[in-house]
Amino acid sequence: MGSAAVVPPQAGPAGRIVSYNPATGVPLGDVPDMGADEVKAAVARARAAQREWGAVPLVERCRRVSRIAETLMEGASELIELIVKEGGKTRMEALGTEVAVVADLTRYFCKHAPKLLAPEPIPLHLLKHRGSYLHHVPRGVVGVIAPWNFPFSIPIGEVVMALIAGNGVVLKPSEMTPLIALAGKDIIDRAGIPPELFQVVTGRGPTGAALVESGVDFVVFTGSVATGKRVAAACGERLIPCTMELGGKAPAIVCADADLARTAQALAWGGFCNSGQVCASVERVYAHASVHDELVERLVAITRGLRQGDASSDEVDVGAMTWDKQVDNVERLVDAAVKAGAVVQTGGKRGKGPGQFFEPTVLTGCTQDMDIMRKEIFGPAIPVMKVASEEEAIRLANDSHLGLNAYVFSKDTARARQIAEQVEAGTVMINDVLNTYGCPETPWGGVKQSGVGRTHSVIGLKELCQTRHVNYDRVAVPREIWWYPYKQRTFDWALKGMKLLFGKRPWSRD
Ligand code: NAD
Repeated sequence: MGSAAVVPPQAGPAGRIVSYNPATGVPLGDVPDMGADEVKAAVARARAAQREWGAVPLVERCRRVSRIAETLMEGASELIELIVKEGGKTRMEALGTEVAVVADLTRYFCKHAPKLLAPEPIPLHLLKHRGSYLHHVPRGVVGVIAPWNFPFSIPIGEVVMALIAGNGVVLKPSEMTPLIALAGKDIIDRAGIPPELFQVVTGRGPTGAALVESGVDFVVFTGSVATGKRVAAACGERLIPCTMELGGKAPAIVCADADLARTAQALAWGGFCNSGQVCASVERVYAHASVHDELVERLVAITRGLRQGDASSDEVDVGAMTWDKQVDNVERLVDAAVKAGAVVQTGGKRGKGPGQFFEPTVLTGCTQDMDIMRKEIFGPAIPVMKVASEEEAIRLANDSHLGLNAYVFSKDTARARQIAEQVEAGTVMINDVLNTYGCPETPWGGVKQSGVGRTHSVIGLKELCQTRHVNYDRVAVPREIWWYPYKQRTFDWALKGMKLLFGKRPWSRD
């Protein structure tokens, strides 16, 4: 671990935000803390550029956006170094969960968007002489407000999809990781996308609030539940549609017949990847009593073998935590759980030295009333609770105000699917964790307070469009029967017809 003094994250010259390496405390650079006027000007520039971009045929837009994958891969090594330095995660995580996700998403949507956004005919079941179809047009300017835990893949994935859909985009990245967002802007500019079309506005919460108020046509917000509620209310005030990708408290249900070797590995990766700072992290485990002890033994053995440290200079499995306040949060939750009777099987303490670390931690003896089982940990701690049955596990899994992801472990896929369908979550994975965020064709989003709307997949792509309906005449008729003048004869005829269509059918038995 580095030895430089920790620089408070927000200190720096007036009007600037300093970015620093969370593993060492070494400053990396600073960016402007932008005000409402700068945000408005950025939105106006994006809007002017969007008029031309929105008129470019979709196939041609896809051709141009696909260049982003190429410039991304050309500069991948430098970008990965920056993600590791500013975000604290490991190189493997920077490659697999940030760069690869955006490269694949870009290629996927550039290939499939022309089909996914093609006009959709709606066969009319009664008025056969008329036709209907949906067509999808750009929303205009999309405001993207992003968190720090996936500072590249979350915002830049959204930006790519919004550009394909024909929009201009203004991104407000997290104040913790602005340099990565600016590197993303550089990659997109180098791909030949008009520089005014995609803008980055750096700043803290008020800059994000200014973006919502700046006249954007759609907001994609990813962040905490508390901020999400404020942003959704501000969108509501302006009647701007939005998607809210918020917090998670993913339960893992471990059935009596689970493959424990695979399950323990999956739980370790699902709980400690990116130091547990993943909205889909394994945040609580409900293990069947018959396998609980062996599962814990395996999980603890894997956890003890993990190497933690400064990923920018060492080969490590678990890097630094991006935000100092998050380390405090994990410590608070672990300490409170221990006070309430939980047992630390391994880890349990913050790391020594100037960097922001918390040891990968496994806790047993946890109970549902503990905060560690109810509040988002967002750090490398896995609380485990013993349950008597799968039914109890399902009930406890659903006993949460959040519902982003959930996991089920069982060798019986049919039974696991039955369980998965009873769990209240946007995505349930069986015998695997986290990785569907990297599948651009699958929808991502939560139920309950984990959010509103979906990103990725055809659903997420269409959210970035205005879907409009056109109704036209397939067969020309001189007039419709319900037009003026109203006549008793037409009324009688129409009522008879309706009785035939919607009334009790002579051949029906009940
Ligand atoms: P946060 O809510 O503190 O901040 C998110 C963004 O909102 C930041 O850019 C911040 O500057 C901005 N912001 C703050 N106040 C604002 C306001 N009033 N108006 C507009 N913007 C404002 O969240 P965070 O700490 O950056 O991220 C961690 C949270 O994000 C966790 O709860 C995590 O679960 C969640 N998250 C969810 C997903 C998902 O896909 N559902 C993905 C990643 C992270």
